[in-house]
Amino acid sequence: MANKIRVRFAPSPTGPFHIGGARSALFNYLIAKHTQGDFIVRIEDTDRKRSTKESEDNIKEALRWLHINWDEGIDIGGDYGPYRQTERLDLYKQYTDKLLAEGKAYYCFCDTETLEKQKQDQLAKGETPKYEGTCRQLPKETIDQYLKEGRPYVIRIKTPCNEILAIDDIVRGHVEFDSNQIGDFVIVKSDGIPVYNYCVVLDDALMKITHVIRAEEHLSNTPRQLVLYHALGFTPPTFAHVSLILGADKKKMSKRHGATSVQQYRDLGYLPEAIFNFLGLLGWTPEGENEILSQQELIQQFSLERVAKNPAVFDIEKLNWINFHYMKGLDEEQLLTLCLPHLQKVGYVNDDMVKTQHDWLKAMVSALRNHIQFGAQVVEAARIFFTDEYEPENEEAAAVLREPSAADVLRMFKKEYTDLEVITADTVRPLFKKIQKEIGVKGKFVYMPIRVALTGNMHGPDLDVIISLMGHDKVVTRLMNSGLV
Ligand code: GLU
Repeated sequence: MANKIRVRFAPSPTGPFHIGGARSALFNYLIAKHTQGDFIVRIEDTDRKRSTKESEDNIKEALRWLHINWDEGIDIGGDYGPYRQTERLDLYKQYTDKLLAEGKAYYCFCDTETLEKQKQDQLAKGETPKYEGTCRQLPKETIDQYLKEGRPYVIRIKTPCNEILAIDDIVRGHVEFDSNQIGDFVIVKSDGIPVYNYCVVLDDALMKITHVIRAEEHLSNTPRQLVLYHALGFTPPTFAHVSLILGADKKKMSKRHGATSVQQYRDLGYLPEAIFNFLGLLGWTPEGENEILSQQELIQQFSLERVAKNPAVFDIEKLNWINFHYMKGLDEEQLLTLCLPHLQKVGYVNDDMVKTQHDWLKAMVSALRNHIQFGAQVVEAARIFFTDEYEPENEEAAAVLREPSAADVLRMFKKEYTDLEVITADTVRPLFKKIQKEIGVKGKFVYMPIRVALTGNMHGPDLDVIISLMGHDKVVTRLMNSGLV
């Protein structure tokens, strides 16, 4: 196919996989799938000090967990590999040699002090600091001589003067940059490693990337990349710079706002389908009202034209709402799998219980299903089954136990309950009516004291279900602990 769209996600493996990175990956993935194009993942690891294998593994694992699978790239290969920049150094060198031979790039032997002084002088004059071009015209003999002496050098690209560098960005519209602001910048550092701006251009061009969809923070790199496209004789791709993600306070999303990495959300017990759906809405709006969109629906509906220019706001309430929706689709076993690590972590459940009380655990988390929006919330919700130490949750709850009829209700309930031969929600339920009738109070005055006495809470799962799950000893102990029985 001649005009097949080829997009890429090119993370630098230098830390946790940020939600913003996942959003960039997702938008690339969606547009590739929407157009039956190719989605490529490659690793930008030329920052050797900060790049780690652990981070690379985290990113790949998180992408797979989110079902953002790539057609070509790292680990799976393809026609344009290798897909890790440190494995492409020879390739970059071939192009650097070519640029040098064509006089489009040059050796620069200026030392750090000289460059720093230049920069300070320019700043003092109120100018944008840029390289003055000292080594641009060095005679060939001098260069050869310096190289022979083993002087350290960098390689710079010749940036043309007085040129308008422009892109028609799908998100930001027509954007122009003045080449005079740039100067001859470094493309290969003194340790021989090429810089990001250079590698990214070569990779995108050689991998035949048609659209570069990435975070807005890279917009400022684009003019340098355009200079390189021109020097190398490649046609630049189409760009789409997607806006930042802000926290609810409209400040750039950071650790202060809570969890910021995909792993953190996974560890909190969010579902990949929910994160996928939520990320799809971070900066993109569907045409219809419905915001619960499956992977297939997002693929079908996604278009770069509907990506917003304004920053996206990370609304945790919305994520929770979406996650709650997807949790409804889990069967009891899956729900338990999601919740269990959290119950184990706080010591409510041990390995033995996992084996011997599997059915009870399943029934218990199912009872809490409507009261949790993500896995970790099960700890708070399940407290009622695991600890006898609690107080009425607030003054209102405490007042329930001070009602004149509360003691009679609890006493009668204890008696009726202890007389039950089989304890299930179905056998417990009729007791409430019976007590209501016998003592002559409204339903509320039966349910509430029992609920507060047994759980400390005013609200929660159905009382008959709680009681059936709690088991005889806990129920009796707690009734006694209320001091009313
Ligand atoms: N490696 C860059 C990053 O992780 C991506 C650069 C790009 O997409 O051009 O931010």
